[in-house]
Amino acid sequence: MSERPVRVRFAPSPTGPLHIGGVRTALYNYLLARKLGGTMILRIEDTDQNRFVPGAEDYIRQSLEWVGIELDESPWKGGPHAPYRQSERKPIYREYADQLIRDGYAYYAFDTPEELDAMRERLQAAKVPNPQYNSITRTQMRNSLTLPENETQALLDAGAPYVIRLKVPRKEEIRFQDLIRGWVVVHSSAVDDKVLMKSDGMPTYHLANIVDDHLMEISHVIRGEEWLPSAPLHVLLYRYLGWEKTMPQFAHLPLLLKPDGTGKLSKRDGDRLGFPVFALEWHGTDPETGEPTVSRGYREDGYLPEALVNFLAFLGWNPGTSQEIFSMPELIEAFSIDRVSKSPAKFDVAKAKWYNEHYLRAKPDAELAPYLLAALGEHGIECSAEKAAQVVGVMKERVSFPQDFWQEAKYFFEAPTEYDQAVIAKKWNAQVSAALGAYADALPADSEPSANAEVLKSIFNQTMEAQGLKPGQVLQALRVAVTGAGAGPDLFETLAILGTGEVAQRLRAARERLG
Ligand code: GLU
Repeated sequence: MSERPVRVRFAPSPTGPLHIGGVRTALYNYLLARKLGGTMILRIEDTDQNRFVPGAEDYIRQSLEWVGIELDESPWKGGPHAPYRQSERKPIYREYADQLIRDGYAYYAFDTPEELDAMRERLQAAKVPNPQYNSITRTQMRNSLTLPENETQALLDAGAPYVIRLKVPRKEEIRFQDLIRGWVVVHSSAVDDKVLMKSDGMPTYHLANIVDDHLMEISHVIRGEEWLPSAPLHVLLYRYLGWEKTMPQFAHLPLLLKPDGTGKLSKRDGDRLGFPVFALEWHGTDPETGEPTVSRGYREDGYLPEALVNFLAFLGWNPGTSQEIFSMPELIEAFSIDRVSKSPAKFDVAKAKWYNEHYLRAKPDAELAPYLLAALGEHGIECSAEKAAQVVGVMKERVSFPQDFWQEAKYFFEAPTEYDQAVIAKKWNAQVSAALGAYADALPADSEPSANAEVLKSIFNQTMEAQGLKPGQVLQALRVAVTGAGAGPDLFETLAILGTGEVAQRLRAARERLG
């Protein structure tokens, strides 16, 4: 790796909600920047005004904030290379397009849309597989390479619309070293004469991207594999602009595939496959009907940002050990581009859930209590923060998402009215019922501070002994009578949280109903 200061950038286009793959790209950039003591930059690439979507930029910002990716330079924070929105940098790019023309690496093209269509049709008719404006076809088009100089000048003077295209060499091998893929070699005949500047004077992605990466002194370009085909063109641009020596190092990340591996995970897959493909919920509009749409987000689905980050980090990278749990600081410590794989990564949402369960369990009860309190509030149930913390404390081993707390822990707040029939059929009988009645009578008053799980258990054991029963014969019936459910967290912890008065009352109610 070169000696220059490490400066990386995440460069999204605000054309819609940031896809989860984009979050992974941002994360890998961030991990490398932090690992190498570098700078993390965010640049908004909004040169394509037709695809601009209101709210997308703010959404990108919030998504990154939520997962904990900090930006050192950005449109919102500023920095030494401001502005960081390409639309606000428009005047910067012209000079470089002019330089390329002056040096013979680019040219003016005056072709009308009809002329371009006609060219494509001609090529299609001649069975050319991929009709393009390139080193061969440009010789038959209306551009400053084919027109006499004075005619070109006259067209320019008359304000005729034109684009500026890169003059890709006819027969040349373009090579560059990708940090993930090794040497990439592409023949220039496979590269078309891309438009660098549009007729409205706006640069295209390709020109703006290279100019900005150069001016912003970017050392590493880490981006998705879908940009690999553009890289040879970018290499040519660096060369022709005289910047090859400081060209950033490229690292094209592996594709993210659908869970079954049948293709690239797309923005539309989320709804189809039943899991979110966005970090945050997105409120958009259906491009066809104009109707408002809502797309699910990991945050709203109950994922903790730590879990999503850990999951995303492993989609294409691994530490080379069996350790799977990594906090952000641990990821920074362990991360290296060398360990990023070039093979595509399958998006396995079950793994994301597994991570979520892990991080949920690791969270202090007091931090999880607000989720339960919010749900209780919605149901008009009052509860102290302390009790909510106790409940989530015993329940967190049993849920995957914070919103499950209410569903799973309802019985802490509402006495059951129905009982698990399978357990009743197997475990309930007159003797068990009588024993539970005796237990209800034996329980100390609610106010008794020593009525903790252990005390409740020993009273239970003693009562059962006196009733001539083994505890194992009654335990499940006790659970069903008190909670309605056949399974749950530690039973005597549950009873202790409920309080002895409530437990006794529930046992008596169950005996009345079940006999
Ligand atoms: N604006 C491009 C995008 O939307 C950035 C590609 C790159 O990183 O060069 O992904």
